[in-house]
Amino acid sequence: MDFNKLRVALDGPSGAGKSTIAKKIAEKTGLVYVDTGALYRTVGLWAMQNSVAADDTNGIIGLLDSLDIELTWRDGTQVVLLAGEAVGDKIRTPDASFYASAVSKIPEVRQKLLDLQMDLAERGGVIMDGRDIGTVIMPRAEVKVFMTATLPARAKRRYLELQAKGLPDTYEEVLADMEARDRNDRERETAPCVPAEDAVLFVNDDYGIEESADYIISLMRKAAEEK
Ligand code: C5P
Repeated sequence: MDFNKLRVALDGPSGAGKSTIAKKIAEKTGLVYVDTGALYRTVGLWAMQNSVAADDTNGIIGLLDSLDIELTWRDGTQVVLLAGEAVGDKIRTPDASFYASAVSKIPEVRQKLLDLQMDLAERGGVIMDGRDIGTVIMPRAEVKVFMTATLPARAKRRYLELQAKGLPDTYEEVLADMEARDRNDRERETAPCVPAEDAVLFVNDDYGIEESADYIISLMRKAAEEK
């Protein structure tokens, strides 16, 4: 099949480097990168802005009809619009991460974001990262990778990222937060973060960004030749 029509599902827990590596792959191959975590983060931000508590499931469900969320691309970069306005870095704070993890457990929230993601998957030529891409969003993706690294390795990466942004979180806080989010993602009933049966498991503790991207691109080439 055409390499540029491939559907690539990249799943795994937070801090595995999915978005950095997926961006690199998109840059090198011309596929469109879709960051599905940004959608859940935006729903989290929206709940925060509406002063709903993260654990107020009914409150969040009750407001869902008024959620106006769209995905667009500007200069090749994904932009999430909340009520027509780009959310930018507001979805990248630890509070937004906490809220994203909480709202992502709610089946009604996942359902609301389903069509948006499925439409993009239909078109092909995409590399999508998330937690349920290989299992729910693109079960027929030509390439499925479940990418992870050990918890301390992931927490250290995230800690360095937050430090570079000038945020005050300590390594211990980042580790505890990541452990809690992992548990939420793994143990939730709807679309838990588990590898698809036909996914390649890739533990990247000892791999750099470039090496990880090249490894996945090699899987993509093989898939394009075989299909
Ligand atoms: O990938 P990222 O850390 O930005 O995702 C934020 C949160 O959104 C995750 O903690 C996870 O709970 C949720 N998520 C999800 N399903 C996806 C992508 C993200 O549940 N496909």
